[in-house]
Amino acid sequence: MYDERLKQSLPRVQDSMAAARARAGRTDDVRLVAVTKGHAVAAVEAAARAGITAVGENRVQELDEKRTTLADSLPAMQWHLIGHLQRNKARRAITLFDLIHSVDSPRLARALSAEAVRASVDVHALVQVNVSGEATKGGFEGDAAVEHIVEISELPGLHVHGLMTMAPFTADESVIRSTFAATRRLLERCTAAGAQLHGRELSMGMSSDYELAIEEGSTMVRIGTTLFGERET
Ligand SMILES: *Cc1c(COP(=O)(O)O)cnc(C)c1O
Repeated sequence: MYDERLKQSLPRVQDSMAAARARAGRTDDVRLVAVTKGHAVAAVEAAARAGITAVGENRVQELDEKRTTLADSLPAMQWHLIGHLQRNKARRAITLFDLIHSVDSPRLARALSAEAVRASVDVHALVQVNVSGEATKGGFEGDAAVEHIVEISELPGLHVHGLMTMAPFTADESVIRSTFAATRRLLERCTAAGAQLHGRELSMGMSSDYELAIEEGSTMVRIGTTLFGERET
């Protein structure tokens, strides 16, 4: 079932991504993270068969189950955490995720750093920002964001590769676009302020807004519904 669905949906998404890059005159790559949360293990297997190299999950437990089931059969798949991470799961998380998109507080950043140092590994992460200041969204807000991101980028063992954001839930394209543009400028401000970044990644764009996100500089889109259909859970 997922194979059939992806046969239709993946080429469409890839074409739309290419068209958005062309409109923006971009020649750099945009990574597709296929969001498999709420879908069965079979969705990850079908994604791998379709050539997808990264999947995103928003809950540690669900990702843990899928990865434990599949890790041996899909050694090349990258597993990304896109949802909120509780500090008490930091120890488990650093062994499970190839990239954590959702570092949303200084305390979580310090916990991840401490676990990375303890385990002698590098943890790869993005800092989640909330440039639109919506109360329902997590992430760093406002003028303090730059200062916090600079501090986080200096923590040992935690490699910050860039920023992640979610646009507000609105049909107003100009609001969505300005959220993405503000996130891109925030990354530039962090760099100018001396942040020790290991990349210039901007994780922006979901099923409803990934084309706008790419036009505004996204390097990583997180797409679920458009690829796999409505979620079961
Ligand atoms: C669920 C989720 C997505 C994917 O959303 P779709 O609308 O299904 O594409 C992307 N990013 C985050 C943070 C999510 O939680």
